[in-house]
Amino acid sequence: MRNDAVAILSVGDELILGQIEDTNAPWIARALLAIGVMPGQRRTVGDQRGDITAALVELARTHRAVIVSGGLGPTLDDLTREALADAIAIVKQEATGSTELVEDPIGLAHLRAWFEERGRVMPPSNRKQAMRPRACELLPNPMGTAPGLATTDDAGFCVYCLPGPPREMQPMLSAVVAPRLAAPAHEIATCALHTVGLGESALAELLGDLMDRTRTPSVGTTARGGVVSIRIRASGSSESARTALASTIEACEARVGHFIFGQNDATLASCVGALLRARGRTVATAESCTGGMVSALLTDVAGSSEWLQGGFVPYANVRKMEDLAVPSAMINEFGAVSHLTAVALARGALHRTGCNYAIATTGIAGPSGGSAEKPVGTVFIAIADFAAGKVYSRRFQFAGERAAVRERSAVMSLASLRFTLIDAPMQPLLWAEAEPVHVEAI
Ligand code: AMP
Ligand code: MG
Repeated sequence: MRNDAVAILSVGDELILGQIEDTNAPWIARALLAIGVMPGQRRTVGDQRGDITAALVELARTHRAVIVSGGLGPTLDDLTREALADAIAIVKQEATGSTELVEDPIGLAHLRAWFEERGRVMPPSNRKQAMRPRACELLPNPMGTAPGLATTDDAGFCVYCLPGPPREMQPMLSAVVAPRLAAPAHEIATCALHTVGLGESALAELLGDLMDRTRTPSVGTTARGGVVSIRIRASGSSESARTALASTIEACEARVGHFIFGQNDATLASCVGALLRARGRTVATAESCTGGMVSALLTDVAGSSEWLQGGFVPYANVRKMEDLAVPSAMINEFGAVSHLTAVALARGALHRTGCNYAIATTGIAGPSGGSAEKPVGTVFIAIADFAAGKVYSRRFQFAGERAAVRERSAVMSLASLRFTLIDAPMQPLLWAEAEPVHVEAI
């Protein structure tokens, strides 16, 4: 049984060995989605004729079409055209001998012209690139010597082979393959709703039966760096896909509420920036354990100088004391990693800059410096809110290596500011300890 999806097959030893990243397959998947075609299975095989043949036969039997990239070059390890001929023979159950390739006179003329235009003599090995299985046509390659291949109707299945180099593959896919595969009036409409503050399983519980695998539009989740995204996909006629997508977005919003901070290309920093701008407010930072990562996330947003003043990196205690007026007695008694120091850092940043909000981080990123009471991954994040006259500090316990602790600290700093901006400063957050939020007057 063939399904409506189009499979993607990447060919090359360099991909199997992890020497180069397969960028073709995801690019092709996105190109298919854009023309209303569902990407099906994705496979990678090395430069083994038998492996390529087996993958082609299986994928072509189960999918409406297969798009192959790689293995069309002139060298001995380029075996896609031979493998395609073998696959056609298997599908047509032809006797041996039918796997032969025929020379395409037009293809050969193109190759000769390509070299002539560049004042070069065609090396004999390139002649191979004018060869094709009998039940195929050559697809012109405006950017290089390797023509593509497309099976014709009598092949028994539908396969498009494109050269591996992205700059050759991409224009050929757009110009020749996409128009042939496009599903007119059919659309795959997608949307990502980004959340912060919930773990993936807690989010899944809120979504409940919306995540049912048989439901359409489909709803799934993916987690990355503290942000968990809800991915929604609808397909159908353009109008029905969009209507269905919109109603599923609404259903998700109703269940997940204010944990959703933005959609699609929006980042947590850009959404925090938009909230600050809408309210005409500014923020400053005092980053010990994150060493400027919060500022870096905020300055990734174009136009951030409108609402981000800047900040401090009071990494050593002397800078906490001299730049942000954290009392040395406080550090001595409670430690640099404590609610009180976090609060003092945020308060100091607020007073030194005159901003409306300040974010402070102080923690133990590791690998050393942990203790039984404050293990590696203990981080205090404080938000000073001038209008509310309050500073909130929360203790987080992050798992993972130094880099993960710091990245999550930066993300949860932005999350903490965001919940303060939407009047939910006490919102329980992922990784934050259940003990009460520490609150002081400014
Ligand atoms: P080929 O068509 O097999 O001769 O591929 C030639 C070159 O294209 C390779 O050496 C890679 O640099 C590049 N290439 C092939 N396949 C891919 C892929 N899936 N993603 C990115 N680059 C690729
Ligand atoms: Mg190759």
